[in-house]
Amino acid sequence: MYHIECIECRRKYQADEVIYTCTCGGLLEVVYDYSNIHLTKKDLSGPLSVWKYRALLPVGREPVTLKEGGTPLYRADRIAESVGLREVYVKHEGMNPTGSFKDRGMTVGVTKALELGMKTVACASTGNTSASLAVYGAKAGVPAVVLLPSGKVALGKLAQALMHGAKVLSIRGNFDDALKLVRDLCDREGFYLLNSVNPYRLEGQKTIAFEIADQLGWEAPDRVVLPVGNAGNITAIYKGFKELKRLGIINSVPKMTGIQAEGASPVAQAIKNNTEAITPEARPETVATAIRIGNPVNAVKALIAIRESGGTAETVSDEEIIKAQQELASLEGIGVEPASASSIAGLRKLVEMGIIEKDERVVCVTTGHLLKDSEHVLAVCPKPIEIDATIEAVRKAVFSDQP
Ligand SMILES: *Cc1c(COP(=O)(O)O)cnc(C)c1O
Ligand SMILES: [Zn+2]
Repeated sequence: MYHIECIECRRKYQADEVIYTCTCGGLLEVVYDYSNIHLTKKDLSGPLSVWKYRALLPVGREPVTLKEGGTPLYRADRIAESVGLREVYVKHEGMNPTGSFKDRGMTVGVTKALELGMKTVACASTGNTSASLAVYGAKAGVPAVVLLPSGKVALGKLAQALMHGAKVLSIRGNFDDALKLVRDLCDREGFYLLNSVNPYRLEGQKTIAFEIADQLGWEAPDRVVLPVGNAGNITAIYKGFKELKRLGIINSVPKMTGIQAEGASPVAQAIKNNTEAITPEARPETVATAIRIGNPVNAVKALIAIRESGGTAETVSDEEIIKAQQELASLEGIGVEPASASSIAGLRKLVEMGIIEKDERVVCVTTGHLLKDSEHVLAVCPKPIEIDATIEAVRKAVFSDQP
């Protein structure tokens, strides 16, 4: 059994109410009757997938699934050595069906939409949410409407939204404008809103925590580092770890550590300034388009996750992001989009600052796949070497100093 509850005034709502924020304006979360959930490590044996943890998911019907989750947790010794730590892991969420962690939220969110009898699903997106919604809408046979900031969405993501048949609207404005519009649209038309303000979506995403603990032999790492945009994922992962602890499956909760781009960093600023209030960034800008968000909807939850867990938040420059992306690709063979690389850039910076200690066991979450944003890759990598089709030319090129 579960219900929805406001994190501010603790007002309760029935699980089948279509509501995204409390009447007081507070964010909502799904709360279970934990005393009635008897789950052991043994119950959780078997191959990884989102739906393996069904006992902790708020769904009562057959899921709309494309076999999401079960992403690799790589031990990244070369990155560890490069930043000066002993034990670093990369949870590569780019290995989900559409190439980002958004699939974990959408398999649960779109299943919930069917359960609630909703006829159309909708979202605003910096790209990956739209790709995922288009795919799960297609799988469920439900029309999807997506609102994107014009000219600021990586091509791979746009291609997915288009090919999987969503109605794709390109808004002359940024993500924050698109989110405001889609919330209004959903209220007026009765469409089901699947942005991360929807507490059911975050329930799917908390399985990242379940899998990390599962893959480490039911132990929590000391710290989880991840990019923060709308700040849903950091709160979802924190909730996942807290639930495992509550059920006695793990003993500790990792320090939640959020990384933002310098040009879009209201959560990191609030942590640095030790304030409750978020100062929105009117003109967010960064090469990491997935986190190009100026007014994070889940900021209040994220600040709680970071502070309660003893974590922190930091900013990184676009240069640092690109360097980390190249490092991850060349040192570990892990291809990620720019936003995802900010976790590695942030890891390096926090080690240099002495905030992350040498003997910490750290998991960095890489949120999306390299191929999502190949335009960016072509802009930052050397061009292919074009030559004549002769063996002389090939040999000359192979042994030249050009990269
Ligand atoms: C959505 C997304 C993020 C940001 O996640 P939030 O929950 O909005 O903080 C980071 N990286 C990638 C690749 C994403 O798609
Ligand atoms: Zn409330």
